[in-house]
Amino acid sequence: LAFCQSLPKVELHAHLNGSVRASTLRELAAEKQIDPELCKLIEKGDRTLAECFGIFTLIHQVTTSISAIQRITREVLEDCAADNIIFAELRTTPKSRPEHGLTKQTYVEAVLAGIDAFSEQNSGMEVGLLLSIDRRESAEEAMHTVTLAQQYHSRGVSGLDLSGNPTLGSWTTWRPALDAARASGLHISLHAGEVYRPAETSQMLEWRPDRLGHMCCLDEQLRSSLLASHIPLELCLSSNVITESVAGYPDHHFRQLYHAGHPVVLCTDDSSVFSTTLSREYALAMAAFLLDRREMLMLAKKSIDYSFAESHIKQRLHTAFDRAAAKIQ
Ligand code: 5GP
Repeated sequence: LAFCQSLPKVELHAHLNGSVRASTLRELAAEKQIDPELCKLIEKGDRTLAECFGIFTLIHQVTTSISAIQRITREVLEDCAADNIIFAELRTTPKSRPEHGLTKQTYVEAVLAGIDAFSEQNSGMEVGLLLSIDRRESAEEAMHTVTLAQQYHSRGVSGLDLSGNPTLGSWTTWRPALDAARASGLHISLHAGEVYRPAETSQMLEWRPDRLGHMCCLDEQLRSSLLASHIPLELCLSSNVITESVAGYPDHHFRQLYHAGHPVVLCTDDSSVFSTTLSREYALAMAAFLLDRREMLMLAKKSIDYSFAESHIKQRLHTAFDRAAAKIQ
């Protein structure tokens, strides 16, 4: 783990509300007089994918104010920096919650304020932001999120993500919004193949997003289409094993894809919900797939190219990476 901690790393798949510090959740829950038993549930170690969506509902009961959203954003970034992450591309779903005086726009502004607060105190880590469309949302709500991403593009919103309970809704609902996002120069990552829905996964692959997340439940045909697509894939080992989307670490599709030369990036998904860090994910991969230090360095360095950062930032990240890597070789 010490070697993986010392590696400069890039985080490309971290959901903000899934990465909130447990201590902060407890504190915010106490302020809102929410039953501490709920927090215990959040901290419980193992859970199915379906249970995870119940956990997110609990977390969302706690992170409702502008100040809480700013705070969790700043803290998640501080935790990334402490884990030797040089670029963190967070993602979060803008939420309209009139009962808490929150609109999708004020939500995004709170997240951006949290990023600014972090950046004022920390110069070593670059930050990116994707806005997520939740699969519970309508076509209009998805379009609203795209409009916000366009509006805040110059403030560091580089793209969109489609996430949320993979058993809900249909790809055709959000596709027009994602088409519009792509046409305006935003990058897109799609959660795909988390459950076995071959028709939808195939349509997503055909649409050619800039990146994909998970792709755990594929048949042979989808697996070869994925390989032929060369679309970079965000892989979250602990998340997939804990939620039983994959049977165990040695069985994870990372192995096959990595050895086939497919572009893959190790990510945490929800560091708090799955009690992990990016260094730990690297250590798990190193042990499960018998990778050596040089391979881990290459894996980490290549992640820079799959990020949605602008090319001058990628260049800066490569320079920072090489400088940091030289010290640990
Ligand atoms: P938020 O967008 O509220 O900052 O982060 C939590 C949300 O991210 C969840 O409500 C869910 O929509 C999405 N999310 C987090 N982890 C996963 C995951 O493993 N799979 C999918 N499909 N969505 C996730």
